[in-house]
This record gives sequence, structure tokens and C-alpha cells, in this order.
Amino acid sequence: MIVKKDIDALLQLSLEEGAITAKAIAAHEIVFDERTIHKCQFGCPAYGRYLTCPPYTPQPSEFEKALRAYRWAILLECDLADLNRLVVEVEKAAMRSGYYLALGLKGHRCYLCDECVPAGESCRDPLNARPSMSGLGINVFATLEKAGLERKLAVDGEDYTSWGMVLID
Ligand code: SF4
Repeated sequence: MIVKKDIDALLQLSLEEGAITAKAIAAHEIVFDERTIHKCQFGCPAYGRYLTCPPYTPQPSEFEKALRAYRWAILLECDLADLNRLVVEVEKAAMRSGYYLALGLKGHRCYLCDECVPAGESCRDPLNARPSMSGLGINVFATLEKAGLERKLAVDGEDYTSWGMVLID
């Protein structure tokens, strides 16, 4: 059973760790749309170049089944440069609170290395690398909209914040 005070503590921790926005939603409110993977495949330079992006990540049809087993998600907004660390910190805190299946996801490619490993090699930092939400079939914009949060489409060269989420059960 998920205790509200645990979710509140995770939201508080998220803000202390640098989140600009932290909001808990019921996991069934996450909008799933397999078309997102086609946006990765056609138009994103990270496709096929990072282990956290398609085609290396689980297929949306496979991931949706896992996603639907979670009960809560904490949506996190922060600077892109800090997003990976924040998502992993909140995931670990949830695990320490007993939610051992907590799973962090994030927007964008993996920024932990300048270049990912060549095809066929293993990740250099598997404890911290987390997959792209869009690559898994999550419609991030529609999810934010449904949660009453502002969404911004990044324009090349513009400073912008990014979103991640931690699934909790
Ligand atoms: S941590 Fe490095 S090797 Fe692992 S997915 Fe990210 S960029 Fe690739």
C-alpha cells in the first residue's frame, strides 16, 4: 500500500534536490501513445545512438504492460543538466522507503557520456542511465497537460527545462 505521507516526503525531497516542479499523479493518468517512438525514429538524432533510446529500449507495447502495474508517478521538472541525477535520487529515495520497484524515466537522450558506447557494448554507467519516456511510448506533453502542468516545446539553442518521472508502486 502506498502511504500519502511517503509521496509527500518524495515531493519535498524532489524540491530540495533541485526540482522546479514536482507533482504526484495516479499512474493511470499517464498518456500512452505508441506514435511517440516514430518521433524518435524520424527526426531525433539520438535514435540508435544511445542505449537509453530506441531501438535499445523496450517496445512500447511491452513497456505499457509494466507501466500499468504502477499506481503513482511523480512528475519532475528541472534543468536538463540535472535531470538524470534528480530522477535517480528520487527513485533511490522511493526504494529506501520500501517502494523497491520504483523506476525513474526521463526525457531526452542520455547525457552521462558525451558519446554512448559502440553498438554491442555495455553501458558505462548502468546504475544511473535511465530510459527516454518518449522512446517507451509515453506521450509526455499530453501527460503534462492532463496533470495541469505547463508544457514547452524546446527550440534549438533555447534554454529550457526538462521533465522526468518516477513510477512508484
Ligand atoms: S551512461 Fe554512457 S554508455 Fe550508458 S547509456 Fe548513457 S551515454 Fe550510453
